[in-house]
Parts: sequence; structure tokens; C-alpha cells
Amino acid sequence: MDAGPLRTCVGCRSKRPQNELIRVGRSSGGVVSTRVRAPGRGAYLCRDAACVEAAIATGRLRKALRCDRLPDELRQELMRKGT
Ligand SMILES: [Zn+2]
Repeated sequence: MDAGPLRTCVGCRSKRPQNELIRVGRSSGGVVSTRVRAPGRGAYLCRDAACVEAAIATGRLRKALRCDRLPDELRQELMRKGT
């Protein structure tokens, strides 16, 4: 069975099938959100609050998205999706 492409979680750095992860996208206009579906820069996270916290605390999510500052609502958005 093909699990599909693997992506690395920016929180814990483990590789998982893409469809098990939350994708955070960055639009060409610079909007960073889980709702950004446009191709381009993106980062993947497990559906796990610990990974969300780690990704933000280490700055890895910010770096992956080439974003100077993450929007406050993004953290809340990710926490709702995590467990
Ligand atoms: Zn993770």
C-alpha cells in the first residue's frame, strides 16, 4: 500500500505521510495559514500540540515559512487542529 509522499514535521522532525500532517501554507501575498492551499512555501506539522509548541518555540515553523513573525491566530488555529 502506498502511503503517499512523506513530509517532515517541523516540530519533532519525524517523517510521516503527508495526509497525517497539518500543512501551513504561505500565500504569494505573505498570508500564513492552514487555509492557504496555494502551491508554494509550506510547512508540515503533526496533529499534536507538542509539535505545534516545539515548531513555534524553536522558530523552525517561522524559518520554514520564511516569515519574520507568525500571526497570533495561527497558533490558536494549529492548537485547535492538534490534540
Ligand atoms: Zn511532529
